[in-house]
Amino acid sequence: MPYRAPVTDFQFLLDHVVGFQVVSDTPKFAETTPDVVAAIFGEAGRLSEEVLAPLRRNGDEQGAVLENGIVRTSPGYADGYRAMAEGGWVGISASPEYGGMGLPQTVGSVVNEMMSSACLSVHLTSLLSQGQIDALSHHASDEIRALYLPNLVSGEWSGTMNLTEPQAGSDVGGLRTKAIPNDDGTYAISGQKIFISWADNDFTGNVCHLVLARLPDGGAGTKGISLFMVPKFIPDSDGNPGKANTLRVASLEEKMGLHGSPTAVMEFDGATGWLVGERHAGMKAMFTMMNNARLGVGVQGVGQAEGAYQQALSFAMERQQGKTAGGEETIIGHADVRRMLATMKADIFAARTIVLACAVAIDMAEATDQDSWRARAEFLTPIAKAFGTDVGCEVAHLGVQLHGGMGYIEETGAAQYSRDVCVTTIYEGTNGIQAMDLVARKLADGGEAAYRILDEVETIAEAARADFPDIAAKVWTSAESLRETTEWLVQQSNLNNRFAGAVPFLRAFARVIGGAAHLKSAVVDGPDSGRARMARFYITRMLPEHVSLLEQVHQGGEDLMAITPEDLGA
Ligand SMILES: Cc1cc2nc3c(=O)[nH]c(=O)nc-3n(C[C@H](O)[C@H](O)[C@H](O)COP(=O)(O)OP(=O)(O)OC[C@H]3O[C@@H](n4cnc5c(N)ncnc54)[C@H](O)[C@@H]3O)c2cc1C
Repeated sequence: MPYRAPVTDFQFLLDHVVGFQVVSDTPKFAETTPDVVAAIFGEAGRLSEEVLAPLRRNGDEQGAVLENGIVRTSPGYADGYRAMAEGGWVGISASPEYGGMGLPQTVGSVVNEMMSSACLSVHLTSLLSQGQIDALSHHASDEIRALYLPNLVSGEWSGTMNLTEPQAGSDVGGLRTKAIPNDDGTYAISGQKIFISWADNDFTGNVCHLVLARLPDGGAGTKGISLFMVPKFIPDSDGNPGKANTLRVASLEEKMGLHGSPTAVMEFDGATGWLVGERHAGMKAMFTMMNNARLGVGVQGVGQAEGAYQQALSFAMERQQGKTAGGEETIIGHADVRRMLATMKADIFAARTIVLACAVAIDMAEATDQDSWRARAEFLTPIAKAFGTDVGCEVAHLGVQLHGGMGYIEETGAAQYSRDVCVTTIYEGTNGIQAMDLVARKLADGGEAAYRILDEVETIAEAARADFPDIAAKVWTSAESLRETTEWLVQQSNLNNRFAGAVPFLRAFARVIGGAAHLKSAVVDGPDSGRARMARFYITRMLPEHVSLLEQVHQGGEDLMAITPEDLGA
């Protein structure tokens, strides 16, 4: 079934649930009028449906290959990428000073969702460039910005991020790549990086690698790491790609999915690099890129969920099997099939709300420079990444299940969603690491950002009591339980007590925000509406999961760590 961009759903969320109006009311984003937003969604939707979606199967069936040191991309990918670049979509949120559209991240996230729904692997190039644009805009010198940003924003050149090494994955501080100062102010970068997405391609004029490496006087751990721009071709005096740098794609990984995106082992052999940001402060600069990419990856999860849902719904409307209670001709009449579809749709709504609420907070932090917006954005980022991608995996899995045997057969394309989306819970920091970030760093304010969100949930529940007394009460109670658990977590000075319940806590938080979002949408459309029926489904059947999740959090770490490796059969 061809992908259809759910533009009306996006518009509803922006107008009625995540409060996008506050962003367009700021002087910085005053040009983002409803007409502009509608035109952008229409055009990005058309490109996604007509140009990118047809590439999805190509990438899966004929993935990227390495031929004589050159990466050959999947059929049609060069044209798909060019269409994204020429439409200005790579630089959608970049500053107009460098040729970008200067639009809010919220609008950019909707566009990214459509494009990653349509073809996750080709759109990943553009997502990586967007992260790099953000990092350079905030941390690079004027010279680097002037040289690289116009080329990255136009999509003429593409960007990558090089953190991971064989011994340094989640613990980036273990990296060994070296940076030795040259006489001319540049650095010689040497080392091996693994799992580098879109490390090369056959359609951009240059590939700009942002590489984490250690200077000779850089201490151990993350504090001794610096960030470098290491281009595939060294720009000449006119800023055009010149001499080839001493780096290469050593091999491409065989993966379970996302075959259209080349994932490389990279070797840097004294490659020329330029420092980005301060010496030994590379993690700070890279975090700008990673935070941008974390929201982007959460968006990818939601996008894949949407694609899988559309395909499952279409199958359920066509497949005839057995007698249904209501006399429907196809399997959509079976209660269990209806349950699967409602679960998929309700969770997409919840996850999409969270990623867009996070994007609104990022935009407001940028537009107002207020700490409260910044704290909210930082708190929501790990939830957006982890819950968005968990929902991506769960919905894609339900999509396979709903198809029955045909879900397991590649021809339908349902399995591809499941294989492709799986990596989103792993890259940009595994979802376990996101949850640890939430309960440690993001609660370091004593829970202030968390409590503010819970206050909002309770306000939404209070406002809904007149029309929806029963489900409003459930949402209000869930927020109170979560508040009590947050207070408990904040008091745990033994971090292992927090870490043991980090993943359940993150999920419970997402469940509760999702409950409030559904309730708010029910109030907007009224009791006799589809959104009210979906809200009732979510709040009575999915929200109660928070009770068992919070119970797990309260167990702390002791009983978990008492289970020995031998108990586990080691
Ligand atoms: C397809 C693909 C594309 C990628 N693209 C890029 C890219 O473009 N650039 C790049 O730099 N990297 C990239 N990566 C690497 C990716 O970011 C890492 O795989 C990821 O961060 C996890 O690191 P790891 O694989 O070393 O796993 P490990 O760190 O070894 O983790 C293994 C397990 O242990 C858990 N774990 C680790 N440490 C802790 C801890 N302290 N507490 C609790 N649990 C812990 C993890 O959650 C995980 O479950 C990519 C990976 C893949 C598969």
